[in-house]
Amino acid sequence: MKFYIEKEKLSKHKELESIVCDWCKTAFKASEQNEDAIDIENKFDNTKSGYEVNEFTLKWKVGNNYPDGGFGEEEFIDLCFECREKLKELLLKNGIVIQKRNWDY
Ligand SMILES: [Zn+2]
Repeated sequence: MKFYIEKEKLSKHKELESIVCDWCKTAFKASEQNEDAIDIENKFDNTKSGYEVNEFTLKWKVGNNYPDGGFGEEEFIDLCFECREKLKELLLKNGIVIQKRNWDY
């Protein structure tokens, strides 16, 4: 027979508090009601529902990738919805080709 006692377990965890746009420096903060990280990221992405997708990724990744693991460094930026559109215009105006492909799963 096993006997259990109740114990309080204290642990620390990281909770997303805000995202600051790396271009316009606007801070997008979580509300007082302790929203979870997914909600604040949706606000940052300017999506209207949990089903809408509006992602942006710009990163440089260097390092080594082996079958059982890897390591390296990434350079990346977080941009708000408006600054992403500004960056897209800037790239297009400077002759950068932005490729398109459909996705489905
Ligand atoms: Zn911005």
